[in-house]
Amino acid sequence: MLELVKSVPTWLSGLLDFVYPPLCLGCGGFYDGELSVCEQCRTAIQQLDDPICLNCLSVLSGATRCPVCAELSLPLFAYGVYAPPLKDIILQFKFKGVTNPAMLMASLIWSQFGARLATLGATVLAPIPLFPGRENQRGYNQAALLAKELAILMETPVDESLIFRTEKRKPQASLRLKQRVRNIRGVFAAVPAGDSPRRIILLDDVVTSGATVLEATRVLSEAGHEVVAVVSIAHGS
Ligand SMILES: [Zn+2]
Ligand SMILES: [Zn+2]
Repeated sequence: MLELVKSVPTWLSGLLDFVYPPLCLGCGGFYDGELSVCEQCRTAIQQLDDPICLNCLSVLSGATRCPVCAELSLPLFAYGVYAPPLKDIILQFKFKGVTNPAMLMASLIWSQFGARLATLGATVLAPIPLFPGRENQRGYNQAALLAKELAILMETPVDESLIFRTEKRKPQASLRLKQRVRNIRGVFAAVPAGDSPRRIILLDDVVTSGATVLEATRVLSEAGHEVVAVVSIAHGS
């Protein structure tokens, strides 16, 4: 049944959801409730209690800025480790046309890091943009969906036009670390800050090497803005 759902178009899987009850995105089992993930999978997620400095990769216990890297520090608030069942949930979210985990993920991130995120004084949330063609294929940008849900909880607006892609590149997941850095260089452009520089929280679904969010940060900084943190569902290696 699950295999069938994976291979059918979105409109038909919507119809199947109506006929058959939805299954947990983590384990494929039945579940009670409306949040797309069963209780067992939610407790099996390896949570990360503290942000990570994307410059030196140290864990920032109880802090939001890395004392060693200071100005170079960019804290990553990732909800959990990119491993099952969180990995399965994200893959469903990303590729199978399943959009509802955004609300669950935003509320988990908020309950874990909300107090610390609130101290950063962010004025806007900006999702990492997809290539325009890819967004059309999937019908949505999962980072943007996450940003919209988190924005409600943070009472901070989302700006999807602040940073955008300028050209098409290979998917980062298919490349090694050095290639990732080279592949992403120059891929973004940002709206100049002018008289209204923003304090930005960047959103992405998964952060691995950090090459993508660091490049986005570089471009936004050059445009006169300040990126104060990155928020993601998972951090993987
Ligand atoms: Zn489950
Ligand atoms: Zn650091």
